[in-house]
Amino acid sequence: MNRVRLLTPGPVELHPRARLALAGPQVHHRTEPAREAFRAVRRGLAAAFGTEGEVLLLTASGTGAMEALVGGLFAPGERVAVPVSGKFSERWAEIAGALGLEVARGDLPWGQPLTPEEVLGLMAPGTRGVLLTHSETSTGVLNPLAEIAAAVRAAHPDALIVVDAVTSLFLAPLALDVLGVDAALAGSQKGLMLPPGLAFVALGSRAQARLRPYGYYLNLDRERRVQEKGESAFTPAINLVLAARAVLEELLPDLDAHLKRKRAYLERLYAIGEGAGLRPVPAREGVPAPMELRTPATAAFHLPEGLPFEAVRDAFLARGARIAGGQGALKGRSFRISLMGHYPEPEADWAFGVFREVLAELL
Ligand SMILES: *Cc1c(COP(=O)(O)O)cnc(C)c1O
Repeated sequence: MNRVRLLTPGPVELHPRARLALAGPQVHHRTEPAREAFRAVRRGLAAAFGTEGEVLLLTASGTGAMEALVGGLFAPGERVAVPVSGKFSERWAEIAGALGLEVARGDLPWGQPLTPEEVLGLMAPGTRGVLLTHSETSTGVLNPLAEIAAAVRAAHPDALIVVDAVTSLFLAPLALDVLGVDAALAGSQKGLMLPPGLAFVALGSRAQARLRPYGYYLNLDRERRVQEKGESAFTPAINLVLAARAVLEELLPDLDAHLKRKRAYLERLYAIGEGAGLRPVPAREGVPAPMELRTPATAAFHLPEGLPFEAVRDAFLARGARIAGGQGALKGRSFRISLMGHYPEPEADWAFGVFREVLAELL
């Protein structure tokens, strides 16, 4: 059977080490080998996030970790700032609203990289935190996190900086402690090249100090106490934890080279697309964003006038590849092509070839 390869920005092509680990027999989660893997993954992810703080594992998709962080760090009625410029930053605002926070929501053009001024403009005195999206997978933007975090830290030293790093972890350089980011999250089905089902929460010292009990299943305060012992409060997706350990063993020692390769892949995707006349989604006032403000997680292009997304999708499918459309405000107006998953050079070359063929056929 011909397999359709994923050029979608999550889920992604699995790492072969993950597939191998998942083929093993079931282990019980309350045993020493399971605890050892659990601890190794928490440590490995802390290194990848760039924090001396701790990482908690949740059996949930990334959104579960977003909710756990908002509930664990802020009380109902507290004010948080949320700049919205894509589907995932909008999700922050929706979660904060659903949990009863006072949300200072700033609606900005989708596809436009944030500026520190835009973020500070949402932060009245007394703002308890800001919810940011590092890599906005829906638009292809990589927000300038270092600049934004530095500006927030200087102007609002008491506000917590909370970052969705779902498609920047393992794709773009990340160093939470150096940047002064207090908390962040990611999920298994993106840069780590695992199946969906695990979410990761990184907590720096200030976030740990502010943690409060929230809800029942997504209670980070309780998880922190249990996970110190290498277990979780409820049955974890232990198979995914074992797979995560196997992938981390290969990825971490060579992380810089991995990030450089992903960045180079992105530049080739944009070179092919823009060379054929496509307009990238990441832009400010119609001017394409510089490459460093485009996320390595996915290239995103506007669909040319009169070309429906379905035609592009089907042209890829006919060649054994699946791409993704736009989301939210960009639905039906853009498409996304991603080499976030396991793509060694020969497979990546195949993907670039498919992209070229599709554009030659349709444009
Ligand atoms: C995928 C993704 C999420 C989480 O989505 P889930 O479907 O809940 O895993 C959150 N933020 C960003 C930027 C993402 O790309």
